[in-house]
Amino acid sequence: MSVEALSSLDFFQQLQTHFSQIWQALRGRSELLDTLLMRAWQSFDLNVASQCEGLPALDCHKGCATCCTLRVTATAPEVFMLARFIRAVTPGLMKHGVDLRAQIAQANDVTCGVGEAGRVAARQRCPFIAQGACVVYQVRPLACRGLASYDRKACAQAASCRIDEIPYSEPHMQVRSLVQNALQSAMRDAGVAWGNYELNQALLTALDDDTLEARWLAGEDVLNAALVEEVSAQEMAHAFDLLKPAHG
Ligand code: SF4
Repeated sequence: MSVEALSSLDFFQQLQTHFSQIWQALRGRSELLDTLLMRAWQSFDLNVASQCEGLPALDCHKGCATCCTLRVTATAPEVFMLARFIRAVTPGLMKHGVDLRAQIAQANDVTCGVGEAGRVAARQRCPFIAQGACVVYQVRPLACRGLASYDRKACAQAASCRIDEIPYSEPHMQVRSLVQNALQSAMRDAGVAWGNYELNQALLTALDDDTLEARWLAGEDVLNAALVEEVSAQEMAHAFDLLKPAHG
């Protein structure tokens, strides 16, 4: 399904239904979260590609991590998948003197509780940047996937607080929002905490207690201390109820 072929509402509803069906089919199985996220990223990639046809080329490139000083938020499945990924790669990275958990903790000391504007001013880079590249690129959150720029000079100027406006790609932002909201709505229907969490703080929490994924799946809001509410949960829940498919 594509946003282009469907209205945004139809796209959201079909994706939300699809995520809910995956949840029902895989509830209690270890592949649930990975399957949900693979589908979310696949849907994001396909739709962004089709919507960007005919638009100017992006100016993002490997080695540029200017936007990786912005606050990153992620849903619980994204946090838990990243935590598993970090646990898996840590022994290999430690041999090269790279301690991702320590890097996240150092970043969190600077970013914990700091809002969007404060994050830009602090210029704290994401703990996953190494030589300008993202070491967790394959499992980076939707928030990272949804930021793409037509002008990297403007990104650099904004990062040093010289301008406010960055020509971000609208399709990337719109599709990220639709995919993430459809996922959150399906999580809400499944009875798990469906908020958006500040990445550094949530990841540290998840890395330090490997029982949290199971407890979250059982309905506990285990990442709540890192919750970011740009829009209140009540407003979002109301919107999800209005947007839900008639049979949902
Ligand atoms: S996770 Fe990767 S893409 Fe996202 S902010 Fe960090 S370095 Fe950048």
